[in-house]
Amino acid sequence: MAVASTTMTDAFTPSADELLAENAEYAEHFHDSDLQVAPTRHLAVVACMDSRMDIFKILGLGNGEAHIIRNAGGVITDDVIRSLCLSQRFLGTREIVLLHHTDCGLQKVDEPEFRDQLAAELGVKPWWSVEAFTDPYEDVRQSMRRLRMTPFVAHKDHIRGFVYDVEVLTEDNELTLALKHLGYACISPMQCVVRTDVMPTWTTLWRQRLRWKRGAMENLLQYGVTKVTIPYILQHVLMFLGIAFLAFYFALSAASIAVFGDIHFHPLWLVPAAIFMVERAVTVRRNGWKNMLIAAALVPEWIYELFMQGCLVRASSDVMRRSAREW
Ligand SMILES: [Zn+2]
Repeated sequence: MAVASTTMTDAFTPSADELLAENAEYAEHFHDSDLQVAPTRHLAVVACMDSRMDIFKILGLGNGEAHIIRNAGGVITDDVIRSLCLSQRFLGTREIVLLHHTDCGLQKVDEPEFRDQLAAELGVKPWWSVEAFTDPYEDVRQSMRRLRMTPFVAHKDHIRGFVYDVEVLTEDNELTLALKHLGYACISPMQCVVRTDVMPTWTTLWRQRLRWKRGAMENLLQYGVTKVTIPYILQHVLMFLGIAFLAFYFALSAASIAVFGDIHFHPLWLVPAAIFMVERAVTVRRNGWKNMLIAAALVPEWIYELFMQGCLVRASSDVMRRSAREW
């Protein structure tokens, strides 16, 4: 951040009145009046103030379960230590969870430059540290180290730090890449079956797949070319080759119709077609004969495949254009 200006040029409407109206509505349906003041999980969470992070939702916490202490960066500062000291000594918390995140505003601040700027503008240097950082993973470690060193936090047996990735669309996929890069193998018991929610309409299917495909490609871009990502990258190359071949096939068919007036079938190609029909039918045998018939007809799946290819093309264009993520 080169310039941190205090002047706002856009028209601005304060929210307080609207919030009061919202609160009146909230009070109508308020049922938590019997909550005790001490957090029931004996837990304190220290998190960044980033407006995209709903700490309760992210961690599945309920009202009354934890202290949530937030500041810019979720950094362990003197004031956080003050809050944790009170939290542990008066309200019985025993566990501390730190929650930093990617794309944090503090990663974009040049600390010395910002300090100089403040000093020049205000005539006084800030007496606090900006706590800017570049690597959120290292910063969360730094915060954990500070907690271990302070005498004011008594309970240090359960301190854990996490980085919430604000960018990742497909968390399961990212988690797999993260674990593999750490040297773990991802295995599942033989009896495990992958089940995917069936999307009831083409629109919802499109949205779901777009999110998955975009998420998967963005994860690969984030990790770059590594021993772990190469197979996934090759998989994507194959998918794009598939799209190119199908487009080529359509172009050829169109050309054939234009030149000869019809599509000329070569009997030889009936053999691979037959193999495909059997293969498709056998693949879905567990779902009954009706599904086997549909699969053997090939055309329905072909239409579905075209739909998926369209989705992949759209997802790649979204990745390249960095279009807005609306989910
Ligand atoms: Zn932040």
